[in-house]
Amino acid sequence: MPVRLFRCTPTKLTTFEDCPRRYRFTYLDRPTPQRGGAFAHTSVGAAVHTALARWWDQPLERRTPERAAQLVTEAWGAWPTPASGGFRDAEQSQAQRLRAEAGVAAYAARLDPRAEPVGVERTVGTPTAALAFSGRVDRIDRRPRPEGDGDEPVVVDYKLGRRVPDDDDARSSLALGLYALATGRTLRTRCRRVELHHVPSGTVAAAEHTSTSLERVVRRAESIASDAVRAEAALAAGADPDEAFPTAPSALCAWCDFRPSCPTGQRTAPAAEPWAALDPA
Ligand code: SF4
Repeated sequence: MPVRLFRCTPTKLTTFEDCPRRYRFTYLDRPTPQRGGAFAHTSVGAAVHTALARWWDQPLERRTPERAAQLVTEAWGAWPTPASGGFRDAEQSQAQRLRAEAGVAAYAARLDPRAEPVGVERTVGTPTAALAFSGRVDRIDRRPRPEGDGDEPVVVDYKLGRRVPDDDDARSSLALGLYALATGRTLRTRCRRVELHHVPSGTVAAAEHTSTSLERVVRRAESIASDAVRAEAALAAGADPDEAFPTAPSALCAWCDFRPSCPTGQRTAPAAEPWAALDPA
């Protein structure tokens, strides 16, 4: 019998790795259990990602820092209230918008507007022995090979958190490794370099994958998938859902969407204020 491949994205894999109960809530339980409200840092991240994607849709002469700031404003939408974005109030939303505009404009000022990316928010995918992997890459650049024999794609992922990522983060990222593998296979070329672009600081953390390191990434992803498949099979065979998908309480429970549906998470950490992860504006 052919092996049924486990369809996954990086988020699906890391959700199971972080907490199997959260995975069940997200992907299996229907109707979906009650979730908490929006987090402001997620809203800021969505607006910045949208602005940076649309910037590349602009005609060349409009790919300017000023236009980048305007695109943040346009993407900000109707978020002056805590109910629609996780902000404390309209004043905090406005201060964060101004901060995001300045950060995105400064980031855009360092870009070459003529360096047309191979893809922006492009979906890439590949099968492995056990996975049908797909994911959406923030940006795929084309850069000259260090060897000087042509060019090759580079995976770029935008980051906005308080912590500035370093090269170890880029090297150890399961998502970036899978993106590199899938980008290479989708574009039928070699893809080795992955980069985390921390938009607020302009810092770039980078790593170069080898065929060996990509094999390690695939093994890690397939190991997580195999645990998820086993848990799903146990559930289908009638196992107690809470035993098949145990909780993994951690500091992340303060930020988990499913806290309202998870007594373990509620006992583990106090709920974070929806705006607590914002940088001071
Ligand atoms: S609150 Fe914590 S234990 Fe509960 S589902 Fe979320 S991450 Fe898992």
